[in-house]
Amino acid sequence: MTADLDCIDLTKQFSGVTAVDQVSFSVPPGSFFSILGPSGCGKTTIMRMIAGFLEPTDGDILIKGKSVLNVPPNKRPVNMVFQHLALFPMMNIADNIGYGLRRAGMGKTEIAYKVDEALERIGLPGIGARKVDELSGGQKQRVAIARCMVLEPDVLLLDEPLGALDLKLRERMKVELKSLQAAFDTTFVYITHDQSEALVMSDKIAVMNNGSFEQVGTARDLYYRPDTAFVAGFVGDSNRWRGQVTKTEGHCLELRTETGMTLRGVANGRALSVGEQVDVFVRPEAVRIAHEQAELSRFDNQISGKVTSLLFNGAASRVIVSSDAGLGEVEVNLPQSGEFADLVKGSDVHIGWSSDQGNCFAARES
Ligand code: ATP
Repeated sequence: MTADLDCIDLTKQFSGVTAVDQVSFSVPPGSFFSILGPSGCGKTTIMRMIAGFLEPTDGDILIKGKSVLNVPPNKRPVNMVFQHLALFPMMNIADNIGYGLRRAGMGKTEIAYKVDEALERIGLPGIGARKVDELSGGQKQRVAIARCMVLEPDVLLLDEPLGALDLKLRERMKVELKSLQAAFDTTFVYITHDQSEALVMSDKIAVMNNGSFEQVGTARDLYYRPDTAFVAGFVGDSNRWRGQVTKTEGHCLELRTETGMTLRGVANGRALSVGEQVDVFVRPEAVRIAHEQAELSRFDNQISGKVTSLLFNGAASRVIVSSDAGLGEVEVNLPQSGEFADLVKGSDVHIGWSSDQGNCFAARES
């Protein structure tokens, strides 16, 4: 099947700065693809090249298998929704949604039909006569998407569209955007620095760092099987320690931390050798807590320590344990059973995790 969007070795240099460095990816029809990365990593530059506002230094962009490099922005089968939605305040909702169709020379009756149909699809039938400032933030967001979708683009580009919304609305809009994408059955390419947006909505996510893609995968791939230290550190929370490899056996390894503790983990990216500096990442939910050490006998990493903080947050409650052996602080998710409700600051506890929960990567400064 031909992809809706292919970027091939896409590169953009700005007077000596390589903002995007040989990035290649393919987005199948009807999917939700996100580019996730920190500020300045090159996300917007990719979007602007796809939309045609910026010319690539090198590489190609294909939409439905055809290069669009020589096609001007207004003739490309893509549309873009920005953080500042840019709805026209002097026009009512119907005129806002029909704006692009009028410019394309479509007749009034057909425009009215298409606008009504789009309002149905975004779940706001009958509000065409309202003014923009009579809508809530979430409703404006849906109208901005409808205004693009009536033009039937092959690909809709969304540049941090939830960035200006308050936290509660942003949470709701994540779910809504995903269902709008399904309702219009259109390919969405979404950029964000907010991992929770990308993880919730996307079929595939590209994690971007410093102009390049570190990994492209599903939310589960990125979370459970990170390919690089950057992905392991950027997506979700992790405990992280640096050490030196002392023993290897296949992809299993032992390392000695800077504080002299032996930990066991697995090499998740390239193979690692004895003597190499590595970072090991362990998710707080992979660490088990127990009152008695004997309860942790199945784990090949075991530590004793004292509780230094208890962070109650409902289902995601967490405890911070300071290791007696000098490993520093370890973040541990508390089970929901209530079994540890008696823990207080200073309680003695034991913690443990299995070696396959310790993702190890060659150390790099980051
Ligand atoms: P943010 O999330 O903050 O918007 P981003 O990931 O979208 O960041 P880009 O806007 O794509 O990042 O910028 C990538 C790099 O390219 C940055 O170092 C930026 O300073 C640089 N850059 C972007 N546009 C230009 C330009 N017109 N001239 C020179 N450098 C630029």
